[in-house]
Amino acid sequence: MITSTLKNTSLRTGRSFDLGKMNLRQLWIAYLTYPTILLYFALALCSFGIMVHTFVSWLPVVISVSSVVLVYPLVWYAIHRFILHGRFLYRLKWTSALWKRIHFDHHQDPHLLDVLFGSPLNTIPTIAIVTIPIGFAIGQIAGAAAAFGAGLTITCIYEFFHCIQHLNYKPRMSWIQRMKQRHVLHHFHNENGNYGITSFIADRLFRSYYVDAKSCRRSPSVFNLGYDQAEAQRYPWVMDLTGSPPRDRPDGANPNRNAA
Ligand SMILES: [Zn+2]
Ligand SMILES: [Zn+2]
Ligand SMILES: [Zn+2]
Repeated sequence: MITSTLKNTSLRTGRSFDLGKMNLRQLWIAYLTYPTILLYFALALCSFGIMVHTFVSWLPVVISVSSVVLVYPLVWYAIHRFILHGRFLYRLKWTSALWKRIHFDHHQDPHLLDVLFGSPLNTIPTIAIVTIPIGFAIGQIAGAAAAFGAGLTITCIYEFFHCIQHLNYKPRMSWIQRMKQRHVLHHFHNENGNYGITSFIADRLFRSYYVDAKSCRRSPSVFNLGYDQAEAQRYPWVMDLTGSPPRDRPDGANPNRNAA
């Protein structure tokens, strides 16, 4: 079952698994064998090991972990809204490859697993910078280790739900359905809203939340994030790396499939 899923080329587009072609069981197999996810698991285990080793008392550990749980969605919201959807990374030659990898490719084809998952070279330093100072301030080494471990664990949960949001299936639980619908709107209706992945509290707070297509106009830049043909002429680096001009629609596939 596991090897047949991993070797099944009909589940792939190019090198990458294509979530548009997979079911939940196949997603679980791809997720639990994906090197980036395994690296997060391993680092989280190491962090919790360090925490146990340097443990002093429960209170600072609990406060560190709770702080990370509270701060994390806000930080992710800010990164997604102001950095990933900012227009500056593709305008500089030296950050254009980074932007292409961390968000442009995901909006160009939201089904591809390889570019849905962040690159560990970008995510791990970010998680460390966000969580370690918080944890250390609250509980020194044990606090820092607990906070970093919590950050990695939350990232694994985010990544799994993000996969589900692009998987071609209808979740049974209504809260997951709602979560999926909001993120699908971010990808297929208007990208200037619903920046959250699992929680839309920050979107509500900062007025970027919308519940359906009627309540927000359709954005022409929902697939290219504003990097259209004209921008590609002025700032060619992302286009050069892609090897083709930016697309206004994803992979020319059946639009109904992409709306699912
Ligand atoms: Zn997405
Ligand atoms: Zn696709
Ligand atoms: Zn986005």
